[in-house]
Amino acid sequence: MQQYLINDIYRATEGEGVFVGRSQVFVRFQGCAVGCINCDSMDTWSFEIEPTSIESIFEKVLEESYQGKIDWISITGGDPLHPKHVPSVVALSKFLKEKGFKLNIEAAGTRVVDEVFENLDYISFDLKTPSTGVQTRLALIEKLAQNYDGKFQLKAVIADRKDFDYTLGAYRKLEESLGTIEFPWVLTPCFEPSEEFPMQRFIDIQEWNQLEGGPFRVIGQQHKWIYGADKKSV
Ligand code: SF4
Repeated sequence: MQQYLINDIYRATEGEGVFVGRSQVFVRFQGCAVGCINCDSMDTWSFEIEPTSIESIFEKVLEESYQGKIDWISITGGDPLHPKHVPSVVALSKFLKEKGFKLNIEAAGTRVVDEVFENLDYISFDLKTPSTGVQTRLALIEKLAQNYDGKFQLKAVIADRKDFDYTLGAYRKLEESLGTIEFPWVLTPCFEPSEEFPMQRFIDIQEWNQLEGGPFRVIGQQHKWIYGADKKSV
């Protein structure tokens, strides 16, 4: 029987990316081996958790979604695309689609997993920046652009000018290889749990983007403004 490693299932308003403001239920998988230096959910790294069943997940999803009135679900982590999670994510996605839900996945930017992506309605894919200490291969984004056109956004967390320049460099390279960038590319100004609201960082990133003609959408993490950068499951 399929086993599911789940950290939490909760209702919240999407706080970042192009769907900011949308009500949805988050299904957060437990377990990640990506190792971003500035990860804001290190509690999801360990794979050591009591597995749960698809029936229990669905019961909680129904409760949190007000019996399906909220019809978007975001599968997140941890890293839901870690090979240990993939069979469960595939099975859960098929199950939830059959029940009429629409599905987004938060993908860590290290893998394109077709058997998962083809069952989903939307893919939010990370471009890892230098401050994360992790790298996203641009070939993965080319693959997304070729195979999942209109169905994904790219998100890059920006801590400083180095991150911005790196992201701009990636944009220029992809513009060259793809011809044009059609997909939404979001810059998320970093807001660390340990710091006050980083207003100057937001202002700087907006200005850097404008100076380049505005290739990106600068969208902060609204949930952190409302609840604080430490608060979980919001
Ligand atoms: S992929 Fe996500 S959960 Fe994993 S280390 Fe990076 S930010 Fe944290």
